[in-house]
Amino acid sequence: MSKIAHYLQEHLAGEVLTSESARNYFSTDASVFEVRPKIIVYPRNTSDVRKTNRFSWQLAERGKILPVTARGKGSDVSGAAIGEGIVLVFPAHMNRLIELDTSKGFARVQPGIIYKNIQNTLHTHGQFLPPYPASLDYSTIGGSIANNTSGEKSIKYGATDAFVRELDVVLANGELIHTLRLSKRELNRKKGLTTFEGEVYRQLDGLITDNWDKIQKFSIKVTKNATGYNLKDVKRKDGSFDLTPLFVGSQGTLGVVTQATMTTAKYNPNTTLISAHFNDLKSAKEAILKLVDMGVSALEMVDKHLLQFVHEHNPQQLKDLVEEPFPEVLLLIEFDDINDRKQKKGVKKAIKALSGLAKEYSVARDEHEREMLWKIRHSVAAIKWHDHDNKRAVPIIEDGIVPKEKFTEYIKGIRDLFEKYKLDVAIWGHAGDANLHVEPFLDLSKVGDRQKVFKIMDDYYELVIGLGGSTSGEHNDGRLRGAFLPALYGDDIYELFKKVKKVLDPYGTMNPGVKVDATREEAIGLLRKEYSVDHLLDHMPRS
Ligand SMILES: Cc1cc2nc3c(=O)[nH]c(=O)nc-3n(C[C@H](O)[C@H](O)[C@H](O)COP(=O)(O)OP(=O)(O)OC[C@H]3O[C@@H](n4cnc5c(N)ncnc54)[C@H](O)[C@@H]3O)c2cc1C
Repeated sequence: MSKIAHYLQEHLAGEVLTSESARNYFSTDASVFEVRPKIIVYPRNTSDVRKTNRFSWQLAERGKILPVTARGKGSDVSGAAIGEGIVLVFPAHMNRLIELDTSKGFARVQPGIIYKNIQNTLHTHGQFLPPYPASLDYSTIGGSIANNTSGEKSIKYGATDAFVRELDVVLANGELIHTLRLSKRELNRKKGLTTFEGEVYRQLDGLITDNWDKIQKFSIKVTKNATGYNLKDVKRKDGSFDLTPLFVGSQGTLGVVTQATMTTAKYNPNTTLISAHFNDLKSAKEAILKLVDMGVSALEMVDKHLLQFVHEHNPQQLKDLVEEPFPEVLLLIEFDDINDRKQKKGVKKAIKALSGLAKEYSVARDEHEREMLWKIRHSVAAIKWHDHDNKRAVPIIEDGIVPKEKFTEYIKGIRDLFEKYKLDVAIWGHAGDANLHVEPFLDLSKVGDRQKVFKIMDDYYELVIGLGGSTSGEHNDGRLRGAFLPALYGDDIYELFKKVKKVLDPYGTMNPGVKVDATREEAIGLLRKEYSVDHLLDHMPRS
């Protein structure tokens, strides 16, 4: 064990590891990148996190950079849960539900709690956290907050940012702050502090005020966007100020979350699910545009290539559910209104909208029937696990989102791109948000395929940005998409992001190489020579 690791172990209640096996294990997440950490820390409490950040800061003051990367379960696909310094692994100890108040609708949690665990507890109280990701079985709340995740229910309820009320955050220098909406007067009090926290409030308020018009005017016309830093929601016209939206989605690049107060919503397990088959993209798009305004709680899709792929490789999955010839697009449309009359009304309207557009549809009200239909969407797992001639489905262009009106152009653009690179294509995702997932099969041990990675990315992100969309609806920037931020936001906003990062992380010790720090050159150097998500093998990753 190095001198530094030994020093840390002497001061922390949690464990410190430097073994080869631990460093190897934490050198990958679910992205195509690999970065080997020097030290792994399992913090036992907030004090451990504070000491670790402070230690890293003090080293930086003496010119030595040993950065800190927070980590949940490492299911991040953007390469943001790996780092070359200290990796702070939360699920081991800081994994508790601290307080649950169902009458006031909130849950206070530690970041390392597995999403599914808190969700199961909430269900027993008739509540839930709506923006859960498909990876909820094997990912943490901390990861969700840091990535601003969303999922199948986000079309109705929004992304994670809509559910984070308050946060405890350990800043780069080890100071612990509590974020929530402050009145103008409370903000002024914060700005008067002589601490780093005071400096952060002073500088950020100045930056936001000076760039108010620029920040407010900038918009990407999509229903959700996990990229960049959310500056728009920090300061309001009434002068109130909240750092919470800034930390949500910041991928541990501005501070480390040690506690979160989440708003919960009423959960209704008695939903209605409609499955609708379409012969062409035009009809599917027309239906989507009508359905999004009907209060649907999910509007998901798979395309014919996905169905064909699953049929060939895992035929049992689709048995008795969808038959050949497969529809061009299959939509799953869910209504979850607690008021039964309202739910039925929604379903009736949806059926009316589908007639004339859908080739066929079926309505499932019974739990078993609904579960069977959801299997179609979840059969995407077959892609994640497919391994043929060392080719794996790699997440490099897996999360673009465009304005809904551009749904058909987007799908056609993706298909053209795959044809250009002579790759098989399959598309699935959140049709109601036009947030589509697609993963090319590549063998990263082959030079040709490695070179293709960045060419495909260039073409794809040009397509998405060209359609007025965002490079990521839910998976965030990380090392993968950070370099596309200037193209997405323009130089002015990008420079502002960099200034924000500098205010909160002056020495570059908070998860560097991610988001605004990311460069194409660095990404090329960090590309893995094989791709797998083997550390998630205990579960069945689906998307
Ligand atoms: C098969 C598959 C399906 C997926 N489906 C979805 C989906 O439907 N929707 C979606 O949005 N995402 C999805 N993801 C992406 C990923 O699972 C989510 O972003 C998840 O929330 C990450 O949680 P984690 O615990 O694995 O975090 P990690 O991967 O460990 O970390 C993610 C990010 O959070 C930061 N972080 C972790 N803890 C903290 C903390 N305490 N303080 C500050 N920063 C912290 C890390 O530094 C990193 O930047 C999917 C991934 C896979 C592999």
